[in-house]
Amino acid sequence: MSKILIVAAHPDDEVLGCGGSLARLTKQGTEVHVTFMADGVFSRNKSSPTQLNKRKLAAEKARKILGYQRCYFLDFPDNQMDQVPLLVIVQKLEALIKKYQPEIIFTHFHGDLNVDHRITQQAVMTACRPAPGCSVKKIYGFEIPSSTEWATPGDSPFCPTFFMDISSFLHKKIKALTAYSMEMREPPHARSLCNVEFLARNRGHAMGIKAAEAFVVYRHVQ
Ligand SMILES: [Zn+2]
Repeated sequence: MSKILIVAAHPDDEVLGCGGSLARLTKQGTEVHVTFMADGVFSRNKSSPTQLNKRKLAAEKARKILGYQRCYFLDFPDNQMDQVPLLVIVQKLEALIKKYQPEIIFTHFHGDLNVDHRITQQAVMTACRPAPGCSVKKIYGFEIPSSTEWATPGDSPFCPTFFMDISSFLHKKIKALTAYSMEMREPPHARSLCNVEFLARNRGHAMGIKAAEAFVVYRHVQ
C-alpha cells in the first residue's frame, strides 16, 4: 500500500489539518510518517528547554492517539523559517523523502497567513519536483483553522476539490487535539475544539456526509 508523509510546519498542524484522515488511513493499514519542520515554540520561550520538550511530548501523545507510525522533528526556528535559506530547508526535506520514498504527501496550503506554513508548502513543491524517479505522485494541501481563513481575503482563496470522509474518525481528531491543549483556545476563537468540529461538519455536509477534511490538489498522478 502507498506510503504517506505528512509535512507539517508545527506540532498540532498535522492534527488540525488532516488528523481525521491520518487516523482513517492508519486504520486501513497505510504506513504514515509525519515530519515537523519548525519546533512550534516562540524563540522568546526557548530559554526554557521544557517548552520544547512539552511540544514534542504532545506530538508523541497525539501520534499514539491517531495510531500513525513515526514522527521526525527538523527543528527549524518557529515563525522564522523565512530567516533560513529555502535551499537548506529543501535539502533536509529531500533527504527525508529520498529515504522514506512516500507516494502521497499532505502539507500546508500555499496561501496561509502563517509564514512557516507557506514556506513548508514551497519547500515540499521544490523537494518533490516531478523529475524521473520521483516517488511522490500525489500532493494535497490542507487547511488550518486560524491561518488559512485569516489570510488576506481574495489573495488566494482555499478552494478544496478533494474531501476525505472522517465521519468515523472525527472523535479521534478531537481527542488528539487534547494533547495540544496549550495551543487550543476557547470559542469563539478559530482554533477552538468547537470550531474544528464545526469545520469538519461543514466540509462534510457540503458533500452530503457527516464530517470531512478538505484539501486542494497540487498533484495527482495515477
Ligand atoms: Zn502551524
